[in-house]
Amino acid sequence: MPVDSTAITRDQRIEARERNPKWQNDPVRIEMLECINCDACLRACPPNFGAIFNHGADVVIIPELCSGCDKCIPACPVDCIYPHPDWTSETATSSGSGDWWELPHSNNDPYV
Ligand code: SF4
Ligand code: SF4
Repeated sequence: MPVDSTAITRDQRIEARERNPKWQNDPVRIEMLECINCDACLRACPPNFGAIFNHGADVVIIPELCSGCDKCIPACPVDCIYPHPDWTSETATSSGSGDWWELPHSNNDPYV
């Protein structure tokens, strides 16, 4: 049986570090200068996406895990979650988010 290499499940997306190719919406991002680190968005993100993590003092969204469902946006008390139409997997590497991939592998993965 051929191996399905598409990133359909969250585990597959974490393994491949890729978005589900069927997702049409852009991922969203947190403006860290405005974020008050309340974790409300983290709790609002559906576990099958599970895209939001505590990263040191920051709260971050891993774009490859974010479907753009927008459920986190109304949960934010300071409206600091924005669409990220310019995001590409190439810019993700250069933006230094590589170590973010340790977050879903940690014992603190909030969605497991
Ligand atoms: S848009 Fe949806 S998938 Fe993306 S971080 Fe917000 S709640 Fe999670
Ligand atoms: S809900 Fe808004 S303020 Fe709270 S952690 Fe998320 S982005 Fe930051």
